[in-house]
Amino acid sequence: MEISKFQEMMRQLYFHRDSERGVAGTYDWFVDETKELGEALGSKDKKALEEEFADVLAWLASLANVTNVNLEEAAISKYPDRCPKCRQKPCKCTF
Ligand SMILES: [Zn+2]
Repeated sequence: MEISKFQEMMRQLYFHRDSERGVAGTYDWFVDETKELGEALGSKDKKALEEEFADVLAWLASLANVTNVNLEEAAISKYPDRCPKCRQKPCKCTF
C-alpha cells in the first residue's frame, strides 16, 4: 500500500472524529503513541513493537489529514531519493 492510499484509508475511517478533535487534540494522541513506541523499543515483544509502529503511523496520517497535508507528497518532496542536506545516496553528512 502506498503512503497516499494509507492516508486516504485513515481519512475514510477516522476523519469525522479527527476533525472534531482538532489539530491540538490529534497531535496529543500522536505524541502519546510515540511515547508508547519508545517504551516498546525496550521490550522483546516484537508483536507489541509492530503494533506501536502501526499506531504512530496511523496517528501521523490522522494529523496530516486534519492539517490538510499530503504525507506522500511532503515526504518525497523533502527526500527525493537522496539526503536533503548533502544530496547524496547514501547520506555522507558528518555528525
Ligand atoms: Zn546527508
